[in-house]
Amino acid sequence: MTIRTPYRPLDITVPFPELSAYARTGTRLHPRPGAPAADSSVGGPLLWPADEAWPVCEQHGPGTRGIAPERERRYRRVLREVYERPRMPDGGLAYTDEEQAEFDALSAEPWHRPDRHEGGPLPLLALAQFSTRDVPDLGPFAPPGADLLQVLWCPFYDHEDGPFSHFGPYTRLYWRRAADVTEPLPAPPEPAVVEARYLPEPCVLSPEQVVEYPFADYLPDELVARIDAWEDELRARIGEEAPWYQYDLSLAPGWKIGGWDSWHKTDLYRVYCDACGTEMRVLLTIDSYESGGSWGPYPVVGQPTEVKVGRDGEYRAFACPTDPMHPHRMSMQ
Ligand SMILES: [Zn+2]
Ligand SMILES: [Zn+2]
Repeated sequence: MTIRTPYRPLDITVPFPELSAYARTGTRLHPRPGAPAADSSVGGPLLWPADEAWPVCEQHGPGTRGIAPERERRYRRVLREVYERPRMPDGGLAYTDEEQAEFDALSAEPWHRPDRHEGGPLPLLALAQFSTRDVPDLGPFAPPGADLLQVLWCPFYDHEDGPFSHFGPYTRLYWRRAADVTEPLPAPPEPAVVEARYLPEPCVLSPEQVVEYPFADYLPDELVARIDAWEDELRARIGEEAPWYQYDLSLAPGWKIGGWDSWHKTDLYRVYCDACGTEMRVLLTIDSYESGGSWGPYPVVGQPTEVKVGRDGEYRAFACPTDPMHPHRMSMQ
């Protein structure tokens, strides 16, 4: 099924032609649970060379507690089944005794982390893979010759002293040319434990290019003042149905490549390249929700990937426009 954005409520460049200068395309990915086998997916197979070491997180070694991916997948499966069943007479969910005991045992565990990693550093988790053939806005970010972006992360929040010195899953990006991978790794390693919110459901994508406009803090103050006044006037004329610049007309929610970045939780914090000082551009947005404003595609699936970042927020990878090989930076919102 191809997922598409509903018709836009209006073209914001009609009342504000000067916004055209800020227009950027972005590709909404519209991930939906499925069985991805293609080049581009969230939580699907990665084309990884068999002779290249699988990356690990040095900060999560033996003794790391979490939930085993298989256990989490089973919980999700059971939960989906339980929601499909007829309700109990009192309206409650109809768990079997066995399922109830299993869920009770899990929630009794300290930190809901019943499993433990042993051995060396924790292997990273394959999060997503995108091909420039499938995702129109990916190409401009790619180093010469590369056509595949692979995203891996360490599925834990605490990375205080990590290479990127921030909180949030430690995230690595890999560019490669698919044709170079003549001997792919048959079964990539998976970490023994994860934080459940960072384990993606395998999802197929429906990439769709849309036009976006900047978060207001990127715009001149006088333009923002005029947009605010226009919103007020429109609201007075047609009521609560009037669209908002932020939520309906500028920034699409959900996973996407390129486009613009929202700063609705912190106000704008410009991201600069550590290597050369150039202002970076948002490459990938990992979003907890895809619904929102006028952008919710039909049928609406609130959290298609089951990945939840920040406080139901977004986690973004920024890339250097001068040199795509300069280290990316992550930002939570
Ligand atoms: Zn880690
Ligand atoms: Zn740079």
